Amino acid sequence: MTRDLLTARLIMKRCLSERAQCFHLDFEVDGVGNFAFTPGQFVSAVAEDANGKQQMRAYSIASAPHGNRFALCLNRVDDGFFSNRLADMEEGETQQFQEPLGFFTLHQPLTDSILIATGTGVAPMRGFLQWLFPTGGPDRSEGHQIWLIYGTRRETELYYRDEFEAYAAQYANFQYLPTLSRAAEDWSGLRGYVQEHAVRIASESEMNAAGPEFGIHAYVCGLSPMINAVREKLKGLGWNRKQIITERYD
Ligand SMILES: Cc1cc2nc3c(=O)[nH]c(=O)nc-3n(C[C@H](O)[C@H](O)[C@H](O)COP(=O)(O)OP(=O)(O)OC[C@H]3O[C@@H](n4cnc5c(N)ncnc54)[C@H](O)[C@@H]3O)c2cc1C
Repeated sequence: MTRDLLTARLIMKRCLSERAQCFHLDFEVDGVGNFAFTPGQFVSAVAEDANGKQQMRAYSIASAPHGNRFALCLNRVDDGFFSNRLADMEEGETQQFQEPLGFFTLHQPLTDSILIATGTGVAPMRGFLQWLFPTGGPDRSEGHQIWLIYGTRRETELYYRDEFEAYAAQYANFQYLPTLSRAAEDWSGLRGYVQEHAVRIASESEMNAAGPEFGIHAYVCGLSPMINAVREKLKGLGWNRKQIITERYD
């Protein structure tokens, strides 16, 4: 079945890390006043390759709904078709996408939530946080504890750090926990892998008890080895699989 395609114009491109070749892209959807989606969903970029074959790749939306705009966060992959095509785009150019899809969204009713991401897996988390703590709008977190555990190798690869630190400074119920696997000596923050910190927070949380009404969820986004490691750790604490919501990039 062919689905409707939307045309989006790149209005701003920003390099988030030279070393990791990671980019933030802001798009405007042509011909609509309002681009509707649920925070955490993805769009699929569509284009023909040099052989005339249609290629399609999913990218999580790295923003909350805001007029006809949406953002992506992606890094170049060696010899990758779409990541490099998008990273090479110039402002003003257009790209076709399928409309948003996906079930990696905040469950309702909202509970305490541990957001766990590595690398560009932070994209949907940024969407969640923009929705929970909207600039100039009412706080939608309902007082629930929200943690963002964000793992990368180096400090230079902590994408959107200023934004997350600003939320943490403003909202007492939000904690930003960046953790580095190859930290420099002068790094005073957390070290090691996200799953170690996830299990610590889950153990300490008052909501750990997994009754029929779950008091806490984990939202995990990135590559499969990390997601599997987090899942194993939380299951070891007695978590039910429905408490662990995942988005795999591979
Ligand atoms: C639901 C969903 C959401 C996603 N959201 C994002 C996002 O927000 N940001 C983002 O950067 N990516 C995201 N991805 C991954 C994205 O869809 C592509 O797989 C990625 O950009 C590589 O595509 P490509 O066309 O450049 O590489 P391809 O041409 O498909 O692959 C080229 C080579 O790179 C390898 N490869 C493919 N993907 C990766 C990878 N991630 N890391 C290392 N090697 C790889 C392949 O095995 C192949 O050998 C998401 C994937 C899914 C399923």
